Amino acid sequence: MLLAAPRFALPETVAEAVAALAERPGAVLVAGGTEVLPDLLWRRRSAAGFVSLRRIPGLRTVVPGLTLGSGVTAARLQRPDVAAAAPALARSAASLGTPQVRAEATLGGNVVSALPYRNLLPVLLALDATLVLASAAGEREVPFDGFVLAPGQAALRPGEVLTAVRVPVRTGFQDYVKVGRRNAQYVATVSAAVVVDTAERRVRFGFGNAAATPLRLDEADRAATAAVDWSTGAVTLDGAEAVAELVRRGVDPPEDDAATAAYRRHALGVLARRLLLRAGGADDR
Ligand SMILES: Cc1cc2nc3c(=O)[nH]c(=O)nc-3n(C[C@H](O)[C@H](O)[C@H](O)COP(=O)(O)OP(=O)(O)OC[C@H]3O[C@@H](n4cnc5c(N)ncnc54)[C@H](O)[C@@H]3O)c2cc1C
Repeated sequence: MLLAAPRFALPETVAEAVAALAERPGAVLVAGGTEVLPDLLWRRRSAAGFVSLRRIPGLRTVVPGLTLGSGVTAARLQRPDVAAAAPALARSAASLGTPQVRAEATLGGNVVSALPYRNLLPVLLALDATLVLASAAGEREVPFDGFVLAPGQAALRPGEVLTAVRVPVRTGFQDYVKVGRRNAQYVATVSAAVVVDTAERRVRFGFGNAAATPLRLDEADRAATAAVDWSTGAVTLDGAEAVAELVRRGVDPPEDDAATAAYRRHALGVLARRLLLRAGGADDR
């Protein structure tokens, strides 16, 4: 097989990456490699070849407004321009792994890993982000909501590359919190993000490890929106407690060595209440 494609491709454009994937059925895309490489080491995954995205400068761009290349690292997401436009995203990036991991780990890798406890996913849900996907068939844009089908399974078609994430810039309070045995080097036992949109007068939450996929709860969002006095921005304690109860009822968290489902249910209620009270400027204890 003298003319067979080499197992490893280092494309310099998205078009080359898409072509390289098509030439290597069963090849794995590698961005930062912080998931792929440990998976290979621990034999949780095998690969018929690799297509690296690391030499594609176009995937690392940040366009104000806000369009983030899929190759933007967690460290880059913490910088002031992103933190000003999407504070919750910067906050969640800040507690992703360690400084060494954040220097390599990409937004695209986090999204396509499709695990419910990944840091950035609840934030992308709360922000109503959309994903830009490229393949030999062209480009398509899909909402992030619905992209994670099951733990580890994204709605990515064969041969597709995630090229960018579009994040609407919202005016209002945003935050992200993660509960874990510790923050560094540890995935979220549970997590939550809140995004307040003062222009649309709407509150949206996103929850991590609250179900098999990153979770939104329409009922909790509606109750949170109703709990805000939009003329002052204040949130009542009763309103926040009612939201916490809806969250406790709405989630369906996993049970594993890190925590029971009952613990996760309770913690998610606490996080929702705390985030909403913070949004209202109140003491959140
Ligand atoms: C020590 C350590 C600590 C960690 N801590 C955390 C943590 O606290 N929180 C957290 O969320 N994660 C954590 N992680 C996991 C990991 O760092 C993140 O999920 C990271 O964002 C993955 O990005 P990556 O670029 O390294 O992905 P890669 O390993 O390169 O890829 C991950 C998956 O996505 C696919 N992929 C990557 N880019 C694309 C693309 N553009 N289009 C299509 N498919 C693509 C790959 O084929 C692969 O299946 C940790 C990892 C380590 C090693």
